Amino acid sequence: MTTSPKDIPTLSEWYASNETPQTEDEPKYNHDEGLNRRVSIWRGDITKLQADLIVNAANSSLLGGGGVDGAIHRAAGPELLEECEGLGGAETGETKVTKGYELPSKYVAHTVGPIYSSRAVDKCAQQLKSCYQTSLDLCQSHGGGVIGFSSISTGVYGYPIKDATEIAIETTRKFLEKDQSVTRVIYVVFSKKDEEVYKSILPQFFPPPPSSESSNGNKHE
Ligand code: ADP
Repeated sequence: MTTSPKDIPTLSEWYASNETPQTEDEPKYNHDEGLNRRVSIWRGDITKLQADLIVNAANSSLLGGGGVDGAIHRAAGPELLEECEGLGGAETGETKVTKGYELPSKYVAHTVGPIYSSRAVDKCAQQLKSCYQTSLDLCQSHGGGVIGFSSISTGVYGYPIKDATEIAIETTRKFLEKDQSVTRVIYVVFSKKDEEVYKSILPQFFPPPPSSESSNGNKHE
């Protein structure tokens, strides 16, 4: 069973539902309903997502590994590894694209997240930002549409989930403000805990409408 983006609520729809976002922090950006219709958080398996491009948390060999990387290679089939073998690896913060083969996604962007070090916080943050930025750029240059992100570096690579999520979301907000080609960004998480972190941070960067303004959560797809 694969999942269509049409069946995943946008932030607009989430805010319009009864489930009020729980966040204590003040918004860092202005409310923009057009942007809220282009972003989603979804708890599920990224290998089942019907997307134009999904983002794999790869290692620098680009030859597969554990976690989400292993799951993507298993679901895509052996042709993915064959194509990856021709890419010559990638540096931390760098991203390379392949086809999706047996996946329900057209393309896979293999991005190499930083291995977190508390002694190099700024460098890790820059590298993680680059992972999100280069993946979004590649989605745009491959025709845009729906991009699904795994939570880069927050598994085995040990990046603190809250810090990583802020970088993921802020990089996306700045990108979407200038781009028209990416119609939906879907953050795919595996655990309930990670879902809650995303749901607590998203309203700071993509605020809900002011309470006087009612939103009908119009779909645009
Ligand atoms: P990294 O090495 O970059 O830390 P991991 O694969 O260890 O990457 O973890 C990244 C995130 O991907 C973790 O939150 C993990 O729970 C999640 N994850 C693992 N498998 C899947 C999957 N099939 N779909 C979506 N997310 C997944």
